[in-house]
Amino acid sequence: MKIAVIGSGYVGLVTGTCLAETGNNVTCVDIDINKIEKLNAGIITIYEPGLDVIFKRNLKQERLFFTSNLAAGIKGAKIIFLALPTPPGEDGNADLQYVLKVSEEIGKLIDEYIIIVNKSTVPVGTSEKVRKAVEKSAKTDFDVVSNPEFLREGVAVEDFMKPDRIVIGSSSDKAKKIMESIYLPFLRQGNPIIFMDERSAELTKYAANSFLATKISFMNEIANLCDLLGANVDNVRKGIGTDDRIGKRFLFAGIGYGGSCFPKDVLALCKTSDEVKYDFKILNSVMEVNALQKTKLIETARQYFDGNLNGKVLGVWGLAFKPYTDDIREAPAIENIRKLLSEGASIQAFDPEAMENVEKELGGLIKLCDNQYQALENADALFIFTEWPVFRTPDFEKMISLLKSKVIFDGRNLYEIDDLHKFGFTYFNIGRTNNSSR
Ligand code: NAD
Repeated sequence: MKIAVIGSGYVGLVTGTCLAETGNNVTCVDIDINKIEKLNAGIITIYEPGLDVIFKRNLKQERLFFTSNLAAGIKGAKIIFLALPTPPGEDGNADLQYVLKVSEEIGKLIDEYIIIVNKSTVPVGTSEKVRKAVEKSAKTDFDVVSNPEFLREGVAVEDFMKPDRIVIGSSSDKAKKIMESIYLPFLRQGNPIIFMDERSAELTKYAANSFLATKISFMNEIANLCDLLGANVDNVRKGIGTDDRIGKRFLFAGIGYGGSCFPKDVLALCKTSDEVKYDFKILNSVMEVNALQKTKLIETARQYFDGNLNGKVLGVWGLAFKPYTDDIREAPAIENIRKLLSEGASIQAFDPEAMENVEKELGGLIKLCDNQYQALENADALFIFTEWPVFRTPDFEKMISLLKSKVIFDGRNLYEIDDLHKFGFTYFNIGRTNNSSR
């Protein structure tokens, strides 16, 4: 089937490439001409494990195309996926300008039945707005489908190729049938397509992300309580995670959630609630807890350095908002670094994949290191902000030889406390003041 994907970022590029992998003819469109030139030249523009190989295969076998021209991109397409940004607007609501502008343009261009599928995360009621925007100038019949995307950066290809579920919000039987035929190759293990109305589909995405963010903030509060009560959050995590009503995942305490989705989606759901005069108490607290948790280690560091971070040289491991991505949008590391800089510290940092993006954001303000050990040279302490596996079993002897002081502020609880004490480190972490593992 001929498919167009509008927006070729993290979601659009993965969606387009994976749909080409199952035999569709896919054209990805983006207004960023530089991005399109790179993609056409076979250069992948994001880091996403496994994407490179299928991207190159489908490009070579001429099932995957890129253009910055919307009219050319959607010509002959039976389905148009929208994978456009929906960042928070000034009031915190999702900004729909990209989605609605493209929808209007599509309306002017279509001349036969087409399905417009919204993959962007959008507030309840957006399907109707998209329909109205297209209708303004459409000369033909069309359907609008809400198909929220649940892929996770870092495992996006796996998530797209083998999704837990596909949610399709539509009231059109014709559109539902076509959507089913597109997705069946991805559901061979029997995971479901869940059909529902558009509004419920839109809300499902916000509910999923908000629930996960709630789990994170809940565990971070348990961790804070552990520190005050002399308990160990790792023990508590194992103790509750074995209850299958709770589950083992998303129970790790740390320095809070970040990324391009959770912060904006939790905020947007609160705003949606406000609009209908519903006070979503839990979610407001989830945001408050996360904001405090994000920079919690700085307070610990201030206390350790007698209230003064001015002139301290700080090594930083991990800049991406999570491992296996180069995405630094709303990354706790970036907020922490800006705060540390404002208090007069100097930063030397390393991340396995995010250095290019960090250079754009903080270039000139911090020292960008070639490897994790360079970040330790003559440093007064090490901060760990992202749980990249490569940081889990470092060469501790080498670390000691490079650091000025053996001090670690670990926002991701990477190490066994006893092991670090044996090496003589002063080791701060989240919720494990009591280091007993039994
Ligand atoms: P992104 O910023 O990586 O990509 C968006 C792309 O759209 C950019 O390349 C941008 O240049 C392009 N664009 C902007 N205006 C355009 C226009 N008028 N025409 C064509 N292209 C245009 O964003 P993303 O992370 O892929 O997220 C897209 C949507 O998917 C958001 O609503 C997001 O909330 C949602 N989502 C994201 C994830 C994720 O993990 N990133 C997961 C699920 C859902």
